[in-house]
Amino acid sequence: MNGLMMDYPLTLQHMLWRVERLFDKKEIVTKREDTLHRYTYADLSGRVAQVGNVLRRLGVKPGDRVATLCWNNYRHLELYYAVPCMGGVLHTLNLRLFPDQLEFTVGDAGDSVVFVDKTLLPILDKIAGRMPSVRQIVVLNDGGPLPPHKLGELLDYETLIAAEKAECSWPAVEERAAAAMCYTSGTTGNPKGVVYSHRSQFLHAMCVLQKDSLGMSESDVLLPVVPMFHANSWGIPYAAGLAGTKLIFPDRFMGDGQVLLDLAEQEGATMLAGVPTIWLNLLGALEKSGRRLPKVHTVICGGSAIPRSLMEGMDRVGLRMLHAWGMTETSPIGTVALVRSWIPPEEAFNARLKQGVPVPGVEIRIADITTGEELPWNGEAFGEIQCRGPWIASGYQNDADPTKITEDGWFRTGDVATIDPDGYVTIVDRTKDVIKSGGEWISTVELEGAVMAHPKVLEAAVIGLHHSRWQERPVAYVVPMPEYKGQVTAEEIREFLAGKVATWWLPDEIRFIDEIPKTSTLKFDKKALRNTAEPIAEDAVPSPVQGGSARE
Ligand code: ADP
Repeated sequence: MNGLMMDYPLTLQHMLWRVERLFDKKEIVTKREDTLHRYTYADLSGRVAQVGNVLRRLGVKPGDRVATLCWNNYRHLELYYAVPCMGGVLHTLNLRLFPDQLEFTVGDAGDSVVFVDKTLLPILDKIAGRMPSVRQIVVLNDGGPLPPHKLGELLDYETLIAAEKAECSWPAVEERAAAAMCYTSGTTGNPKGVVYSHRSQFLHAMCVLQKDSLGMSESDVLLPVVPMFHANSWGIPYAAGLAGTKLIFPDRFMGDGQVLLDLAEQEGATMLAGVPTIWLNLLGALEKSGRRLPKVHTVICGGSAIPRSLMEGMDRVGLRMLHAWGMTETSPIGTVALVRSWIPPEEAFNARLKQGVPVPGVEIRIADITTGEELPWNGEAFGEIQCRGPWIASGYQNDADPTKITEDGWFRTGDVATIDPDGYVTIVDRTKDVIKSGGEWISTVELEGAVMAHPKVLEAAVIGLHHSRWQERPVAYVVPMPEYKGQVTAEEIREFLAGKVATWWLPDEIRFIDEIPKTSTLKFDKKALRNTAEPIAEDAVPSPVQGGSARE
């Protein structure tokens, strides 16, 4: 017997319906060079309809890929809605990829039209003449002349929109049809295309709104500092459309703690979202200025582990962090570190530091890294996280890397974790970063957290380098706080770590640098560190692992 409920299609057109009908008074604010651009959800819906008509006029057909090379701004949001609602597939190009990788992603996706912010034209120009699938390029421009380029004829977004009506007859779209694409950042080999469906985006957005997930609501004012080209923008654009959340876009000023502080304060932000490096900047700006953000109740943080020192610092300035884990392939929300009702108050801080509990809709297990055997949730056994659910990738564009799906249909994340009996996941490392020393594992994530807890340290990244005796040993790259530059020693850090981590975990070398290289999504780029690292000076540096066993 079948149920007798409507087979209502779960498509992004529903979000658009809500944007049009329910939230006309709610605002969307975008930072510009010296001013703010401000409009309402009603304006958004009118312009989305105009963009829909533009896409039709440009000949975009169902299933066509339409790329964006844009910052976080209202025009990008318009494309987030118009492209999938028109039946196209929104491909958010990662503006920090190398030109060859950018060319690869445009070709692999088969993009037919590219929408590009004027300020990003020079990036697209680097692959001029190398995008055979692209028919038209449309420039999103706040005014003024374009920089010189070799891209041929360019169309102007505002001119195209001005010629169209603010009503659009949207085509019927299947819920399983592709809605959007995002490429992983290609830390190994070429980037891989993750293809979201309308259904997956719909269900993921519903999950994001739950109180035990990110929990944004109509009364919230959200400042997303997550690039809109990264991991589906954490699902925020569509969740905001469902809830009617006021949005504040920082455009290209995302890395500037002072700008973020001003925007959050002036626009009354109640929630912020971004990776830890963003919050390190903001914390610096808050501590320096003595200013505070009393209206902000939640700072959503994911993308890398939150160092304990960062969460402590944010607590000190009255900002409560909400830790979440996920990846491009998981749309991206997989776990959220809410404090479960039975966790005693003295354990609450530690619970918040973990990566969290699977959100409703996502199932998780851990599997032994070598044997693949499923491991118990005892908080000690660690293995690769595997997950499944309606917004978890079942494969990649053009079948890149089929090995990521297990025989029984789970997605292999490449992250190594423990799960405790309360269901909290704790990421130990990525399989490609974890260090194997003398047959034992060392978690670079944990070691980094321990080094960053030193009061003179701003950032630290740990990598494993070849060692003739132990196969690999940890080396820490450390950036001192600006005021302690040149005034902190390796010995001091080693002493600080003693007793906090096992002796055999102590880094063989501590190398001071001015900045840790960052990936396109502002995470520590350990691949870049490994590629340029000097070998360990095995004779010069006394190894903490003398005497035959790595466990001393
Ligand atoms: P990129 O490859 O650019 O980092 P993703 O955003 O897809 O792109 O990266 C996802 C990865 O980021 C995860 O597999 C995991 O290793 C790491 N990650 C995400 N969130 C967390 C977190 N809260 N703690 C630790 N690592 C995280």
